Formats: sequence, structure tokens, C-alpha cells
Amino acid sequence: MPDCIFCKIINKEIPADIIFANENLVAFKDIHPKAPVHILLVPKKHLVSLNDLSEEDKVIMGDIVYQAKLLAKAQGIAETGYRLLTNTGPNSGQEVQHLHFHLLGGKPLASIG
Ligand code: AMP
Ligand code: ZN
Repeated sequence: MPDCIFCKIINKEIPADIIFANENLVAFKDIHPKAPVHILLVPKKHLVSLNDLSEEDKVIMGDIVYQAKLLAKAQGIAETGYRLLTNTGPNSGQEVQHLHFHLLGGKPLASIG
């Protein structure tokens, strides 16, 4: 998708600190980390948000959650705890219009809700 910053990272048109990639997703460090561990897990397929999901995307979503679990372990935050979240639409504060999941940990996180 032209002018999509995460598509450009996926296509290696702009740099990012990529930690993991496979056929479904890329994981890289957030440029403005809000916790000691702040990784974005991004489907390679351009989807704007969860609102864009179709049934065929269930495999990709499952892989993202599974890879988040493995990354949490690799980053040493599996036992101390972490959060996996995605913002959807204006009220959530979604800034980048390419679906992504934040993996946050390494310190106590502010409660939400
Ligand atoms: P959201 O508000 O859920 O859309 O979050 C977007 C996230 O993307 C923010 O945490 C930004 O810091 C992060 N971000 C934006 N541009 C980049 C980039 N080029 N590389 C890494 N992270 C980025
Ligand atoms: Zn995109």
C-alpha cells in the first residue's frame, strides 16, 4: 500500500529494528517505546485494523498471537508479565493505519479501563 509506513518497513524501503519475520508477519521495535520491551507485531498483509479482517485472516491472527508469546519468552518478560494490544479506530488513538499489535512489558504497566 503506497504511503503506508508499515508496508514500507515490511518491504525494506525504510529501516526498522526487526526482531522476527516469517511468511505472515514482521516484528520490530517501536520507535517511541512506552516500556522497556515495546515490540510491534505487524501482518505482512495490509489490513487497516481489526475491522478489516476476513475469515481467511484467522491464520495470520493466530500466528501473531503465538509469535507474541514466543517473543515475550525470548525477551524475558513471560514470567513478569506483559500486554498484547491493538488500537482500532479514532477512539482508541490508532495512529498508523496498518493493523499492528503492541507487545509491552519489562515494567508494571498502567491499568486500563
Ligand atoms: P498506534 O497508536 O496503535 O497506531 O501505534 C502506532 C505505533 O507505531 C506508535 O507506538 C509509534 O511509536 C509506532 N511507530 C510509528 N512509526 C514507526 C516506525 N517507523 N518504526 C517503529 N515504530 C513506529
Ligand atoms: Zn500497510
